[in-house]
This record gives sequence, C-alpha cells and structure tokens, in this order.
Amino acid sequence: MQRRSWIKNTGGLLLGSALPVTIEAANKKPVLRVAHLTDIHIKDKWDAPARFRRCLQHVQDQKPGVDLILNGGDVVFDMNKENLETIKTEWNLWHSIVKAECSIPMHYALGNHDIWWNEDDKGQALYGKKFSLEQLGLSNSYYSFSKNGWKFIVLDSTHLDIDNTWYIGKLGDEQMNWLQQELKATPATMPVCVLSHIPILTATLMVEDHIVNKWTMLGGDMHTDTAKIIDLFYQHKNVKLCLSGHIHLRDKVVYNDVTFICNGAVSGAWWEGNRRQTAPGYGVIDFYADGSFEERYVNY
Ligand SMILES: [Zn+2]
Repeated sequence: MQRRSWIKNTGGLLLGSALPVTIEAANKKPVLRVAHLTDIHIKDKWDAPARFRRCLQHVQDQKPGVDLILNGGDVVFDMNKENLETIKTEWNLWHSIVKAECSIPMHYALGNHDIWWNEDDKGQALYGKKFSLEQLGLSNSYYSFSKNGWKFIVLDSTHLDIDNTWYIGKLGDEQMNWLQQELKATPATMPVCVLSHIPILTATLMVEDHIVNKWTMLGGDMHTDTAKIIDLFYQHKNVKLCLSGHIHLRDKVVYNDVTFICNGAVSGAWWEGNRRQTAPGYGVIDFYADGSFEERYVNY
C-alpha cells in the first residue's frame, strides 16, 4: 500500500517505460495466504495448550488474513508406544482447542508421532495410521487438493524400515506411483506446493555440536528416496515449493529451482524453549498466480 500511494503521489513524475513496470509490481497480489504449522505436539503439559491457543490467535491476527493452514504433522505429542487412553486424551485436547480457537480450514500431513506403533497392539482396529486418519476424517494418508490456482500435494513420509523395526522417511512404491500420476495429471501451468512431515531435502542435519570427519544421517531424519523424488520434480517444473517439519529447525534449501523449507516447530524444543537457534514459530507463505511465492518464519 505504501508503495502504491507513493506511485500515486509521484505519478506525474514517472515517465516512459518505468511506469508500466512499477505499476505491475505494485499490483502483484497474492492469490492465497497460507500458514504452515508443524510439530505442534499437543499435550496437557508445559503450558502447551495455552501457548498453542496463543499461536492460533497470532495466525488469525495476520493481515491480510490467512486463507488456509497446512498442518505438517506431529499433531499430538506422541502416539508411538503410548497406551490408548493417553492417545485419546491428546486427540481430545487437540479437537477441543481447534474447534474453539480456529476458524481457518486446516489440511493435515501425518507425522511420525501420529502413528500408533507397538508390537503388542498389532491386530487392533486402530493400529498404525488408522487412529489419526479417523481423527482427521481422512480416507488416505496422502492426497492432493487445489486452491486458487495452486495444487497442494500432501505426502506421507513415514514408513517402516526394511527390517520392520522402526520408521524411515520414504514414499514407498505405491505412493511414488501415485505422485508420478498426480504430477502427470496436473497442468504444466499450475504451480505445485508439496507438504511432507519429514524433509525431502534439508541442510539442518549438518548442524552438529562437534567436529565430524564423516557425516552420518539417519534414514528417519530425511527422506531416503530424495534423489528419486528430485528426479521426478525435475520433469515437472511447476513444482515450486516443498514444506516440511520434523527437525524442529528452520532452513531453506534451493535446488533445481525448487525451494525446500524446513519450517521450525510450533512447539520449538517440544515446548521447552528454542531448539538450537530456532524459536517456536510457523511459516507464512503468500502464493502468486505466476508460481512465485514470498515466505517468512514468524515467532508468535
Ligand atoms: Zn516433531
């Protein structure tokens, strides 16, 4: 607005080719404003409910207003080996806060902590991802939707490792095929934003306390099928932005003109302050019709 009124006030002074360019830049308006909230880890402890309410208020106070929220997963504190009663309590708390405090539509990706994994519970009806999918009213753990000219692809990063004992970041064959078909079916002119819990590509894992002579990365920390996904994106230049969480650190990596953002965590260091230099926060992204975007990480 400031820039516009400046143009208006000095309009008579702008001559020649400078005028149309300046007006075009000033008129560029986002088609969509999104808040990316990840790793909320809700639990009735550490004052987390009150702090999350404050965060939701902060999101809803943004001007211009936020059109939709992308929830990057780790919605509840931890389901993995918890008993069902604790899990239900965390989800009930989640629903009560969101119902009372949030009027913006929310789309969810599943995080590794939103999965109920315990050897003893195998065979139970709500085992694995079923409990969370039911809570969120989702029929599948990966899906897509379109909004105001952008396509959003929500991925499910968390799958059992080859030895079936713990998780790693990957899509698996079925989801990879689906992603290929999904991108093929999307018009090349339609920009795409991808949401995953585990980062497809991140530099945060190289921030270590000690000097190393060999980097080691766990398959659970970043996607293990990164090269395959990047090869696929390279064939579809309309893939512009990939959002993730999981590490609770904030970084931005640009590779082949695709921007990969690991967007910190609403819970910071699991509600106990900052995780290294990243304070509790969330991402605000303005999407434009031409496939460009502007983004920032906001502390609330
Ligand atoms: Zn997390």
